[in-house]
Amino acid sequence: MRHAVGIDLGGTFMKGAVVSDDGAIIIKDEIATQAQRGAQDVLVRMQAFVRDLAQRAGLTVSDLAGVGIGIPGFIDDASGVAVEVVNMGWKDVSVRPQLIEHLKIPVFMDNDANVAALGEAWVGAGRGRASAFCVTLGTGVGGGIVLDGRVLRGANTMAGEIGHIVMEPGGAQCNCGNRGCLETISSATGVVRLAREAIAAGAQSALQGADFTAEDVFAQAARGDEAATQAVGHAIETLGRGLAVGANLLNPQVIVVGGGMSKAGDALFTPLAKAFSRYVLPRVAEAVVLVPAVLGNEAGVVGAAKLALYAD
Ligand SMILES: [Zn+2]
Repeated sequence: MRHAVGIDLGGTFMKGAVVSDDGAIIIKDEIATQAQRGAQDVLVRMQAFVRDLAQRAGLTVSDLAGVGIGIPGFIDDASGVAVEVVNMGWKDVSVRPQLIEHLKIPVFMDNDANVAALGEAWVGAGRGRASAFCVTLGTGVGGGIVLDGRVLRGANTMAGEIGHIVMEPGGAQCNCGNRGCLETISSATGVVRLAREAIAAGAQSALQGADFTAEDVFAQAARGDEAATQAVGHAIETLGRGLAVGANLLNPQVIVVGGGMSKAGDALFTPLAKAFSRYVLPRVAEAVVLVPAVLGNEAGVVGAAKLALYAD
């Protein structure tokens, strides 16, 4: 049996796991990223983390098929450089060459949404299906496309970025510089913003103060709160329309919805399926199932390991 280490690099924590070639996690852990100490420091600790994980799985680094890394930003795969990771302050960080030099095993990388999609498609909610479109609803809206076990990366790894389809021209400002992107409406941040706007426009609400969360909005919507119901309804309707755009383009067998907001369960999925079916082509709808992600925050490490286990 072959093994690889998958690393899911985040702004706060880097998660890591030793994963076998059947997708099972042998051992996993996480350490603080401490991005403020600089990229070189992060990479040195990542190397030590890989060695430590391998050792705890009863392996040495040289036993590994490789290391796969999910990076929360824009990468250049040809050179192995993390071109820009906004929330860690990285610009042109040479990741792969440095890790190969020190670990002396193959190193693979992709963006975090793509590796999470790969994990879910491989051994999660998309298991057994050749084509999966995976969408993550968190602070933003991420997306990844997996066809026949491989991430569809596009010309420069940006394929699947459903979060930046403009749903409302001239709408709310998005982090990407545009306005009205799906991410400004159907993310956790978007739901909170919509609830605030509904309250400002005069809708009754038990949501008060400046620091309520998307979870609070869903909880209040379940109780019939006017502002919360409007916010959740708008976010889900727009998401259904966005997923229909993606489905019509890709004709996937499964759409996997994950991220913090997917924990809302039926309160999300029941109206989402209805909205989706209103906008998607009937023959596309017939072939696809819309399901919650099942791997949770393990999707990234499993998918990252798969990059190394099943490389070309
Ligand atoms: Zn955007």
